Amino acid sequence: MSNYKMETKCIQSGYEPGNGEPRVLPIYQSTTYRYTSSEQMGKLFDLEESGYFYTRLQNPTNDAVAAKICDLEGGIAAMLTSSGQAANFYAIMNIVEQGDHIVCASALYGGTYNLFAHTIKKMGVEATFVDPDCTEEELNAAFQNNTKAVFGETIANPALVVLDIEKYAKVAHEHGVPLIIDNTFATPINCRPIEWGADIVTHSTTKYMDGHATCVGGAIVDSGNFAWEEHADKFPGLTAPDETYHGIVYTEKFGKLAYIQKATAQLMRDLGSIQSPQNAFLLNIGLETLHLRMPRHCENALKVAEYLKAHEKVAWVSFPSMPGDQYYDLAQKYMPNGTCGVLIFGLKGGRDAAVEMMDRLKMVAIVTHVADARSCVLHPASHTHRQMNEKELLEAGVQPDLIRFSVGIENVEDIIADIEQALR
Ligand SMILES: *Cc1c(COP(=O)(O)O)cnc(C)c1O
Repeated sequence: MSNYKMETKCIQSGYEPGNGEPRVLPIYQSTTYRYTSSEQMGKLFDLEESGYFYTRLQNPTNDAVAAKICDLEGGIAAMLTSSGQAANFYAIMNIVEQGDHIVCASALYGGTYNLFAHTIKKMGVEATFVDPDCTEEELNAAFQNNTKAVFGETIANPALVVLDIEKYAKVAHEHGVPLIIDNTFATPINCRPIEWGADIVTHSTTKYMDGHATCVGGAIVDSGNFAWEEHADKFPGLTAPDETYHGIVYTEKFGKLAYIQKATAQLMRDLGSIQSPQNAFLLNIGLETLHLRMPRHCENALKVAEYLKAHEKVAWVSFPSMPGDQYYDLAQKYMPNGTCGVLIFGLKGGRDAAVEMMDRLKMVAIVTHVADARSCVLHPASHTHRQMNEKELLEAGVQPDLIRFSVGIENVEDIIADIEQALR
């Protein structure tokens, strides 16, 4: 980890050119890497030496961008993935096997909910979903002998539930398992979950990190803090010999880097959800302004939230940074400088009024996206969470009338004027 301040990390971390090398991180648009000795190439395949040999496993552009995200989160190692979905899938699959179990806060991104409730279930991994605001006792009660991880989102998309990360970390650690936090909405500018006890942090870099809606991508950051060997019986994948690499043991061979090394050596090798170096290059440009964009997103969103709260046609508004919000205190604790640019609200006319109001917006677009420079809007019950039934929707914190409004970094007066005319 560098000693730079966050703003400097956004610009400088991850890539330091040598004498006469390109100042800007180059795109290594190459699938392969040349070696002069066959023996050396063999050692790379045995993980005896480190080096690039095939971009499905590692690429210098991707590694530089992963290193920047790692530095921003205060981690020890990181990797990029092709999407946020791949990041969360790998983060879990790296430590579970058939017959295992995970505990998740129920307020989750729709894709993550489907992944944990349905897709990994078909692979023999069960998830128990808990109320994100549950007590320590209720959280404890969700654990089983085969529980291997706890998962939650710093700020849930779209429910905007703020997770009490310290509480979740404490309970996870009492049970000898890591806490995995999806920090997509807060970004490390507003919250660094590792400082609150999270062991692994994931991202959909598609959102604020890219910030311009150009590239789907993901990242996994390991804090290096979880002691896998102390719970060796739970995590044989990390602590017992890997026959596919001549019996190496990741924790012995790589120490604190074991988790990311295994995810790269096994999951990327076999599943291949690599981020394209072109996308990593664009993501890096986005990261260079993350520290400038996040405060403006937060400032604009607070103004829009306050405008909506005072509007006669608006039934309710949730924005964790707004005084009076259900999650205001938790937001102040974990994100005193701001949460994100996303807010949710409902109209007095309910679901039909929500859809009509969205159709009347002129500048603010209806898109299946969130958290980029342009203001946009979505109706989760009709869009991202369409596959869920009414009960699942409510558990995920998605009321049928909920409008998710992603406040961009335009002039806030223009954003409010568009809402005003649509509501009128
Ligand atoms: C969008 C999102 C994801 C999925 O990321 P993709 O990059 O779209 O695959 C996961 N978690 C959260 C919180 C998200 O907002």
